[in-house]
Amino acid sequence: MNLDASLLKQNAACGQKGAPVSPPPRLLDLLETSHHILCISHVTPDGDAIGSLLGLGAILRAMAKRPVLALQDALTSEFQFLPGVETIIGPSQVGRSYDLIVCLDTSSIDRIGNVYCSDAHDRIPLAVIDHHITNTYYGTENWVEPSCAATCQMLVAMADALNVPLTEEMALPLLTGLVTDTLCFRTANTDENVLQVTLRLLRAGAELDHIVRNTLDSRSFSLVKLWGAGLATVQIEDGIVWATLSAESRRQSGVELHQSDGLANFLVTVREAEISATFAQRFAQNGQELIECSFRAKPGFNVSQVAFAFGGGGHPPAAGCTVAGTLGEVSARVVAALHELRRQSLPAS
Ligand code: AMP
Ligand code: MN
Ligand code: MN
Repeated sequence: MNLDASLLKQNAACGQKGAPVSPPPRLLDLLETSHHILCISHVTPDGDAIGSLLGLGAILRAMAKRPVLALQDALTSEFQFLPGVETIIGPSQVGRSYDLIVCLDTSSIDRIGNVYCSDAHDRIPLAVIDHHITNTYYGTENWVEPSCAATCQMLVAMADALNVPLTEEMALPLLTGLVTDTLCFRTANTDENVLQVTLRLLRAGAELDHIVRNTLDSRSFSLVKLWGAGLATVQIEDGIVWATLSAESRRQSGVELHQSDGLANFLVTVREAEISATFAQRFAQNGQELIECSFRAKPGFNVSQVAFAFGGGGHPPAAGCTVAGTLGEVSARVVAALHELRRQSLPAS
């Protein structure tokens, strides 16, 4: 496996505390001079994708702009508590005449799915705002801050730079993204800046316990059943713990279509493991077998390198990729790559 050299270098930066960030002036110009703005994020949207989308919508409205918010995939029920989710449109309603497109929390263009259509949209400036270390700089303007724990954190700095005061309408979705991406301030990238931004969002009216109860502390019984099926397959070898989730077990559990299983987060808590992985089988419409891989790592192991090598992306402690092949073949190949990463990352004894 070829681990990308630039990502290997960035490994050394894992866990460093970032300085406060500020958006590039060209991005601010684009926002100030545009009116009809399409705001989009990634497929199977998580709390940071939805929170940054709703937060940006509120910031742009405060600037008297006309934002349109769009996502390819339907929101899962856990995010229905956020005011404004009903304004997010799907691909069939996205038109083509905009002054600017802003893509949030999305490391590569293929992760946007079909709310971005290169034929219809490629003449429109595309501003990318993201915190993934694996971002491919696919926009006309790219603001990428891997030191930030969430894209929502970047938007607070952006509102400041635009002189837009934080309101409750912005604070609730923005804090939701920060809470979900940091697993409620438990990830190693929860630094002083994250906590300072959080304090400001709380002061602007967001309620932490309301967010936690609706997201991290809420799951369907179907999801617990799916975990049961996944946990029945769990195995550990040399510090890598992993489990598989067959398409059949997902169907039988009855979980929502775009519900992330979150099992890798649980597995990385295994004391004997440094890295966790889950392999979820899915069949594309043409019948092709696809395996959605999720990785988590303890500090010192950068799983985004392995995800990137298999065409995906993410962050040093949390990353993923989708690989064509059978469950058995893909899991064996990817687990071998994780073992190689672990060996390369262990301190020389
Ligand atoms: P997940 O394991 O799905 O919660 O994802 C963990 C991290 O990996 C998130 O930051 C995702 O954006 C990223 N990620 C997951 N799957 C992919 C993929 N197929 N391509 C690129 N990034 C991914
Ligand atoms: Mn995300
Ligand atoms: Mn994020």
